Amino acid sequence: MLSFLKRLFGRSPTHESLPAAQAGRRFGLRESEEHFAQLVAGVHDYAVFLLDRRGNVLSWNAGAERLKGYKADEIVGQHFSKFYPEEAVSSGWPAHELEVASANGRFEEEGWRVRKDGSRFWASVAITALRDDARGVRGFLKITRDLTDRHQAEEQARRLLQEESARKAAQASAEEIERQRQQLQVTLASIGDGVVVTDREGHVTFLNPVAAELTGWNTQEATGQPLDRVFRIVNEETRRPVENPVTRVLREGVVVGLANHTVLIARDGREVPIDDCGAPIRAGGGAVNGAVLVFRDVTEVRRAAEARSYLAAIVESSDDAIIGKTLDGRIASWNRGAERLYGYSATEMIGRPLSTLVPPEHPDELPAIMERVRRGEHFDHFETQRVRKDGSRVEVSLTISPIRDAEGKVVGASKIARDITARKEDERRRTEFLALLAHELRNPLAPLRSSLEVIRLAGDDREAVEQARSMMDRQLRHLTRLVDDLLDVSRISRGKLQLRKERVPLAAVVRHALDVCEGMAKQNGHDLTVTLPDEPIYVDADTTRLAQAVCNLLSNAVKYSDPGSRVWLTVRREGADAVISVRDAGVGIPAEMLPRVFDMFVQVDRTLERAQGGLGVGLSIARRLVEAHGGTVEARSPGYGHGSEFVIRLPTVRSTVHEQPEGGGPGPRLAGGRRILVVDDNVDAAASLAMMLKIMGHEVRTAHDGLAGVEAAAASRPDVILLDIGMPKLNGYDACRRIRAEPWGRDVFIVAVTGWGQDEDKRRSLEAGFDHHLTKPAEPADLERVLSASRTATS
Ligand code: ADP
Repeated sequence: MLSFLKRLFGRSPTHESLPAAQAGRRFGLRESEEHFAQLVAGVHDYAVFLLDRRGNVLSWNAGAERLKGYKADEIVGQHFSKFYPEEAVSSGWPAHELEVASANGRFEEEGWRVRKDGSRFWASVAITALRDDARGVRGFLKITRDLTDRHQAEEQARRLLQEESARKAAQASAEEIERQRQQLQVTLASIGDGVVVTDREGHVTFLNPVAAELTGWNTQEATGQPLDRVFRIVNEETRRPVENPVTRVLREGVVVGLANHTVLIARDGREVPIDDCGAPIRAGGGAVNGAVLVFRDVTEVRRAAEARSYLAAIVESSDDAIIGKTLDGRIASWNRGAERLYGYSATEMIGRPLSTLVPPEHPDELPAIMERVRRGEHFDHFETQRVRKDGSRVEVSLTISPIRDAEGKVVGASKIARDITARKEDERRRTEFLALLAHELRNPLAPLRSSLEVIRLAGDDREAVEQARSMMDRQLRHLTRLVDDLLDVSRISRGKLQLRKERVPLAAVVRHALDVCEGMAKQNGHDLTVTLPDEPIYVDADTTRLAQAVCNLLSNAVKYSDPGSRVWLTVRREGADAVISVRDAGVGIPAEMLPRVFDMFVQVDRTLERAQGGLGVGLSIARRLVEAHGGTVEARSPGYGHGSEFVIRLPTVRSTVHEQPEGGGPGPRLAGGRRILVVDDNVDAAASLAMMLKIMGHEVRTAHDGLAGVEAAAASRPDVILLDIGMPKLNGYDACRRIRAEPWGRDVFIVAVTGWGQDEDKRRSLEAGFDHHLTKPAEPADLERVLSASRTATS
């Protein structure tokens, strides 16, 4: 068989040596074999050659020569592995091919082969095992084709394809990167926090708009700058620079948060409290190659936190009880005011039902309140009673509001409870006071009424008329004092008390007080002992007002002791203090009342049987007056029935100022009458005043409204006009202005006679052009003094 194939394929010189048996078969077959062998030998496009069982070349055709470059005599007998690249040979590939071909009958592949000149070509190889029926594989037929061109074309195509897909992939990833970049840009731009990115050296590479706004640097200016220049931070309290978090991030590669109380100083010096954090940016390999700094303006957060803590502090420090409760009536919060008011601590009360505080006799109150709260209703000043821990009752005013969650749903209630015990007591005292006031005002009216009747009936009985007159005079003074006290109370409670202080000897103040109320003591037959110091003691005082305080104490000493008993008024110096003591041997004051007698409307004995009238305001006025002089007043008493002592203490001042000549007292009697116009819309007031003035020897006319007053003045040209203020048609101020506007009116002496006696009223009347201001009822002595002054002014 082998020899047959050799003959068939080879141009080997052995084809003459075909075995005789075969050669003798049929001439036709032999001819065709040779024909075929020639055909194979001439095939140029395929290398067709035989290998023996071990792989040695047995035959070689023209195609093989062309493909591989060996001539037949160069290669026949050589091993076929010569055609393989070195790496294939060393991996045993040629032997493997023969094994596969032996096992499967055929082996096919494409691969690199080597020409004689060492160049490579891409070959398509088919190896067919040639079997000898009896002895198995005898050799191999190998057909090789040069596919280098096709392979190259394919390679080229593949490369192109690869390049194209790589290009597409690159483009896609570039687009993705761009998309992500834009997304990041938009994110960073729209983020509410400031973001700064730095490189490895801590130089700014990016700044988002918030960071630009907060630092005052724009991206362009900031880029490349060291972060410390752009992001300047100091400790808010110490004002010392704070280490930039990025410095640590870059140094240690960790995420760093900023300490509290850091302030960012913007480029223009603006300061913004901030809160920030820095994080490293790592390259693919994990090395830190930059940092990102995120920071935010915490002004609002701080404000909100401050507002919250203020609110909490307000709630905590409130005098009112502020309690939070759930809708099922359990206590959720309990402030210190609540602890004080109810006596329970927060720990005791939180979680407990609010009904703990409700008196058992009002079982329906709480459910009714909670029902209305659930409906979203609000309660204002709901007055009720609650029970303290010690079981005592307390009067409270409740303000209850629903608490809503973010969606507006009612989830609980807040309750503010105010202790109104004192207010209730105050109200009670006021009500009592008004009743008392009505009583006290009415009291003097009875003797006035009956005295008038006495005068009407007395006829020629001059003594009876005189008695009635002096009674009326006393009652009128009493009434006037009540009204003055009331006005003082109002002034004091509005803080309108005004003092005209000057350096005065205390003796002058005491004399003034005695002028006013000594008469009262004498009337009751009291024995008044006045002791003054040898050396004058000076005080800084408004004589009238301080005398009023002393007078209040004196009249109490008289009021609250038996007629004929003793009263001591003593003035002395004690160190730097001046002391005025008013002592009596009267009813005394029980110890428990001593601290309270100076409170407004407080009276020790309010029974109807009490001997003396009064509004319960005298002592509180006295105390306020003394305090306004920088002094104190104190009540002492050994007890009921043992008399009382009131002690005023005042700071003294050093002075060499001479004692003022005694003021007050009636003015000089008028010689000769004056022409007087009395204008008052109260016809009786005008008529009685006119009568009195006529008796005093003046020529008097009257008018009853402002306009009539101006007309009467124009017609009669009086020397003096006594003008009321509150009048119909034209008030006293305007009437005065009109008169002053006339040439004849400039020198008229115009006196305001009015019920309006406050300092403000006096100032207004002076502004309107009045010469003087008298408060009704005008004391005859004061009237005489004013008329005397008018004479000096107009003469
Ligand atoms: P009033 O005398 O109008 O009641 P005050 O304010 O002057 O009001 O006095 C308050 C109360 O203090 C009096 O009602 C009286 O009970 C008590 N009081 C004041 N002075 C004396 C005193 N000298 N002796 C005893 N009690 C006095």
